[in-house]
Amino acid sequence: MNQQSITCSNFDLNSLIRDNILNIDPYLSAREEFQKEKDFIFLDANENSFGSPLSFSNSYNRYPDPFQMELKEKISKIKNVFSSKIFLGNGSDEIIDLIYRIFSRPKIDHSIIFPPTYGMYEVIGKIHGVDVVKIFLTKEEYQLNLKKIENVITQYSKIIFICSPNNPTGNDIKKKDIQNIIKKFTGIVVLDEAYIDFSDQESFSLEIDQYPNLIILQTLSKSWGLAGLRIGIAITSEEIIQWMNKIKYPYNVSQISQKIAIQALDNKDLFFYHLKNILSERKYMEESLKKISIIERVYPSSSNFLLVKITKYSKNLYRYLIENNIIVRDRSKIILCNECLRITVGTHEENEYLIKKIKKYSEKCLNVSYKRK
Ligand SMILES: *Cc1c(COP(=O)(O)O)cnc(C)c1O
Repeated sequence: MNQQSITCSNFDLNSLIRDNILNIDPYLSAREEFQKEKDFIFLDANENSFGSPLSFSNSYNRYPDPFQMELKEKISKIKNVFSSKIFLGNGSDEIIDLIYRIFSRPKIDHSIIFPPTYGMYEVIGKIHGVDVVKIFLTKEEYQLNLKKIENVITQYSKIIFICSPNNPTGNDIKKKDIQNIIKKFTGIVVLDEAYIDFSDQESFSLEIDQYPNLIILQTLSKSWGLAGLRIGIAITSEEIIQWMNKIKYPYNVSQISQKIAIQALDNKDLFFYHLKNILSERKYMEESLKKISIIERVYPSSSNFLLVKITKYSKNLYRYLIENNIIVRDRSKIILCNECLRITVGTHEENEYLIKKIKKYSEKCLNVSYKRK
């Protein structure tokens, strides 16, 4: 990074936004012009005023709130950030897609990612015709390689993706290193905190006001257990949120998702109860797996999964587990994850069964030698 590109005071949001987005006149949805109020007769959105064939009272015949205000209020209280700094998407993946649309010019700009990491940063980039530059995490420690990062940054570097806790390695990225990048980079930093509730580290969301170039991603899919609803969260400046609102599809989060999420967020006791169980099960799995002879390493985890290195032929264990009705994630072909499986923390019964099966396989291994294909 040269001097010119490292001072944060140089951050100029509008200069990063693509021309076609700067000049867009957004579609103004019917529900945006007139909010739902009980005593209006709504004949503006071509909805079916008679209702739907559903028998229960809320028949979903009306378009949902395009800005999900009630849900954002709930999230705002839980996360301790203003609801004006929250954007909701159809999963985090929609938000990643929107970020690419706002900032990255196809065939001109590139983004920077730190593999091994979440695959969607690259896939969505490629869909948009945006190059993705890869700087690998350090071996074994899975931390950022700051020197190498500095060397690849150019005027065409628009977005840097950092995932902490990282998927599939499970560890936190050092807070100092994250801060360093956010402060020095004059482009956009996307910090994916999908697993932050399982970590001892604090979310950057409490410091969002200090960093005009930071977009934090969170989700209701993991710790909140609502993967089926598809609700992703961005926490960022009001300016960036305005751009996201401008280009998103008008009704991107369905009525039913908003409604059920609001119900779930009210039940914080059960959320914390599940969270506590996941953390104690993670510890139980960690300790049990470490005792098994074919397990070479269980990497430290700040998430709800464990990256586990098998001494050799991890693929055979993977297949053996499938034969026993257990599906884990095979990460053995990924660079820096040789012979690794990623295992999600399950219920106690599920984890016990998994460990029993891996033990059995391990004992078998002592007697049989598996031939490489
Ligand atoms: C699971 C996960 C997400 C969540 O994606 P959703 O689309 O919100 O379900 C985001 N980032 C990472 C790194 C993940 O592992």
